[in-house]
Parts: sequence; structure tokens; C-alpha cells
Amino acid sequence: MTETIGFIGLGNMGLPMATNLAKAGHKVQGFDVVPAANEAAAKAGITVVATAVEAVKGASIVISMLPNGKLVLELYGSGILQAASAGTLFIDSSTIDIDSARAANALAVAAGMLNLDAPVSGGVGGASAGTLTFMAGGAASDFARAKPVLELMGKKIVHCGDAGAGQAAKICNNMILGISMIAVGEAFVLAEKVGLSHQALYDVASTASGQCWSLTTYCPVPGPVPTSPANNDYKPGFAAALMLKDLLLSQEAAASAGASTALGKHAAEIYQSFVAAGQGGVDFSGIIKAIRES
Ligand code: NAD
Repeated sequence: MTETIGFIGLGNMGLPMATNLAKAGHKVQGFDVVPAANEAAAKAGITVVATAVEAVKGASIVISMLPNGKLVLELYGSGILQAASAGTLFIDSSTIDIDSARAANALAVAAGMLNLDAPVSGGVGGASAGTLTFMAGGAASDFARAKPVLELMGKKIVHCGDAGAGQAAKICNNMILGISMIAVGEAFVLAEKVGLSHQALYDVASTASGQCWSLTTYCPVPGPVPTSPANNDYKPGFAAALMLKDLLLSQEAAASAGASTALGKHAAEIYQSFVAAGQGGVDFSGIIKAIRES
């Protein structure tokens, strides 16, 4: 069935996601506050409209892909919920704090809408290829309604629980990732100092108990994994500034929930110094350079 889909936020992730929906034959009504993003969207076959309210008019599904929770709540409070037909499915795929995701869900549900938080992992490459992982929070029936459309943009779609559970899964996963990248970086730097080659450490750890994604997919030294950003001057990939964003979200959640996350806290501090030193645009695996220099 052809759907009319409103898509709000046509940036690095939103544009390729919206493009995949248009390629699948849906009518996509896109809106971004930045003119250049709208121009790129028009070239990609998206019907660009002048406001967010126009994007939701006549839509059966509305997807947002914005930088943070404040902007998502502002968007949900901007009249779009009143402009939509009753029962429209609102999916927010931005990575935001859990409390804002729950507040957005409450606004949508009170206005008679269906709603999911459905943040993604897989980066710009996964968005372009349609291979993102979606982590969704919200009612099971809303998830069932959303799944076919999410499958046009992703290859793994997981229902994690009630509203906010998608964001919770995302920040817990990325807290593991931030910590594990620092651990792998420290191990390679220690290996350098004690005269163990990168390749020898890789050959042992990649099939031993130190094995993890940060080692075998995003290896932070050039050589062992030719496709890792270390072989491409640490160009992202997944920028350190975005890793910092997710680590700070996990710290916000830990403080609000009273969870002890000592290593998550330390990882956030390490990435904060890295970003403050002007390295926010470097792939997050570039943290090994700061470890080496410290
Ligand atoms: P981006 O900054 O490239 O895109 C965000 C877009 O939203 C921008 O084009 C901006 O102009 C637009 N925007 C802001 N406020 C708006 C509003 N009120 N109405 C309409 N448009 C508005 O960011 P991105 O890389 O596309 O990331 C989007 C979200 O996805 C973020 O929450 C990010 O954390 C998450 N994410 C990003 C990646 C990645 O690798 N880039 C991976 C996973 C998740």
C-alpha cells in the first residue's frame, strides 16, 4: 500500500532514510529548517514542503530525525499533532534522552496518535544502504503498524518495550561501545609500549576473550581490519562528538535512575576532553591517539 509519509529533519541520516521510503514508492513529504537540506531532498525525489505542519497534512505516518530531545518536544508541541489525522503514526528516530522520548509519547497519545521512539544504529552508511538497526519503544500494536515501513530503512527491527525503551537500548549499547573502544585503544597502546605488534595482539584477541566489535570491526589501529576508519585517517564513521552525545545521554539516564556506571562516566570524561581538544569530527576510534599521547 502506498502511504503518504511526513519526514521532518533531512540531515545526514534523515535524507537517505527518506530517500529509501521514496524509492519504495511512498509519497514522502519532507521538511527541514535548512534550505540546503531541502534542496538535496528535492533532488532525491522527496516532495519538499514549507513547514512541519504541511509535512504531516494528509500523512498516515510521520517520521522525525532531529539532533536532540528539546527539538523533538518543540516539534511535537508546534501544532503538528493537531494538524494530523487521528490515528497517524508518529515515529521519532532521533537519538534523544529517555525522559523527552516519554514526554513526546505522552503528547502524541493524548492527541489521539500512535507513537514510537525508534532510534537507530548503523550510521550514514546503514541509512543509505537501508540496513539500519531500529530499537523501538511504544505499544506493541504501534510497533506492528510501524514494522513494515521501518523495514524499508533497516534490516533489524527490535521492539524493546514501552515508550522510551528504544532510547534506553540505544544509550546502553553505545555506553558499551564507548567503554570498549577505550579498552581496545588502551590495549594497543600498552602492546606498543611492551613491544607486541598490533597484528599479534589482533590475531590473539580477535578470537580470544578480548574479542569485541571495537576490535574486530572498528579496530583503532591501521592494518588488521582494512575497512576500519583507522585506515582512512580516522575519518568518520561515527564521529567522536556523536559518541560523546550518547555517553552524556547515558550519564543523564544513570543520574535520573540512580544507576552506578563508573566506567560509563569515565568514558564520557575521556571523550569530552577529546572533543574539547577539537577532535569532535574525528571517528570515535581516534580516541587511541589521545590515549597514546596521555
Ligand atoms: P544532522 O544534524 O545531519 O541532521 C539533523 C537535521 O535536522 C538537520 O538537517 C537540521 O537542519 C534538521 N532540523 C533541526 N531542527 C529541525 C526542525 N525543528 N524541523 C526540521 N528540521 C530540523 O544529524 P544526523 O547525523 O542526521 O543525526 C540525526 C539524529 O540521528 C541525531 O539524533 C543523531 O544522534 C542520530 N544518529 C546519527 C548517526 C550518524 O552516524 N550520523 C547514527 C545514529 C543516530
